[in-house]
Amino acid sequence: MSPSKVSTIKFDEFYNIIDGEQRSSKNQHHGIDPTTGEESWGVPIGNQQDVDDAVVSAQKAFEKYRYTTLEKRKELLQRYVDAFNSHSEEMVELLCKETGKPKQFAQMEVGGVAAFIGHHLSLDIPEDKLEDDEKVITTRYFPLGVVGAICPWNFPLILSLGKMAPALLTGNTIIIKPSPFTPYTTLKAIEIAQEIYEPGVVQVIGGDDKLGPLLTAHPGIAKISFTGSIATGKKIMAACANTLKRVTLELGGNDASIILPDVDVKKIAPEVVMGAFQNSGQVCVATKRIYIHKDIYDEFLQEMVNFTKTIKTGDSNSGSLLGPVQNKMQYERVKGFFEDTKAKGYKIAVGADTVPSGNGFFITPTIIDNPPNDSRIIQEEPFGPIVPTQPWDDEEEVIRRANNTNTGLGACVWGKDEKHAEAIAKRLEAGSVFVNSFEKPTPQAVFGGHKESGIGGEWGKDGLKAYCNAHVIHLYKQK
Ligand code: NAD
Repeated sequence: MSPSKVSTIKFDEFYNIIDGEQRSSKNQHHGIDPTTGEESWGVPIGNQQDVDDAVVSAQKAFEKYRYTTLEKRKELLQRYVDAFNSHSEEMVELLCKETGKPKQFAQMEVGGVAAFIGHHLSLDIPEDKLEDDEKVITTRYFPLGVVGAICPWNFPLILSLGKMAPALLTGNTIIIKPSPFTPYTTLKAIEIAQEIYEPGVVQVIGGDDKLGPLLTAHPGIAKISFTGSIATGKKIMAACANTLKRVTLELGGNDASIILPDVDVKKIAPEVVMGAFQNSGQVCVATKRIYIHKDIYDEFLQEMVNFTKTIKTGDSNSGSLLGPVQNKMQYERVKGFFEDTKAKGYKIAVGADTVPSGNGFFITPTIIDNPPNDSRIIQEEPFGPIVPTQPWDDEEEVIRRANNTNTGLGACVWGKDEKHAEAIAKRLEAGSVFVNSFEKPTPQAVFGGHKESGIGGEWGKDGLKAYCNAHVIHLYKQK
């Protein structure tokens, strides 16, 4: 069998990719361009038949692909990176259109694909050996089978191909489901993969809200890797219980950032702002609560305000730092935090007390000065450009406050005394804690949440095991 051939890649026609072929549907839906509020191209809505066909194809491909060598899998992934990169300009344009991201950040995401896959190319699948007088115990990690990847809309490329790389490296086959809000770049990225891979190794099905449950229910899928909200994560885990699928859940967070009194205020304040507002706050590990030591509270907040005033919001090509939020549902959700702030009379340090109305989903970045602990903006994840600050003066108390949440995805500690900052970092209940940096997830380390922020983790060498069954041979020596 040779790699399937789809016709020349066109960036204004979109298909599901099943068994190496483009497949359309008479049922179509449209993403909405968040900059203008207008409909983008039609994309097919996948159904039960599409899922069944994709699973059969993936199972068939698995029987061969599972026995490819690691070297071969790396060679194919490298060829995929080269093929993907040959379309990087079109990908940047498409990503801008579907997410509204400023061009420089779309370029970073598209460029990040090579970096993410590239790091995986440096990894080996773990193998452990233990020997005593009577036996040798060898633990190997074998692929699970067909993986279903269910993805969100905030980083559509990195978060889907960030599942594809470890799944394929470990010998699985994969069916990717992009978010209905951002299907375009993922559909094209997987269409490109057909130049490299045999039919069924990597497939993509887009659709509506009914599609995800078809994947979680399917008995032919061995594992679901999900990135998205906590509420959906719980539904996915419940659905996967029926067939005892493996699950990795990468869910939401409410990251705390603790600022120690010895920081260089002018240097650090803008970075903390970026940690909160990067990608218009639509980052699972964005800083969502900021705790500033009382001795520097006013000065630090003022520097944050000064920097926030310089942030330009606009369309992808306007040289702005922030774009719109990605969709109407999210825009309405974030609007709720503004309404709550206004209704309760919390103090706005900078920004607006309401979201602008208009065709695009633009929101002015806003900092709320010292709202109470039980306020919605402290308790919940807004996933938009609005963030609260609070003062603190007792280290034990602020650690408790930071940990006082049902989530535990990321956190930050900022301080000149690195040892001191790291000691605090160790006590924060979160999967990834950043010291003297805002949250910057990397493929070099496993990424996952504590508490309701998730189950398991992926990326890094430990993340490979999430796509494997452990397989142990106990070999007794024949003397
Ligand atoms: P979401 O949970 O609404 O949707 C995510 C995906 O799940 C979509 O593809 C959607 O179609 C699908 N889905 C919805 N209902 C389903 C069901 N019942 N069964 C199966 N699939 C279903 O999340 P979102 O709004 O796209 O993303 C934003 C959330 O994701 C935020 O909470 C954010 O913090 C979180 N997130 C987490 C990470 C992480 O790595 N931990 C990364 C990015 C985003």
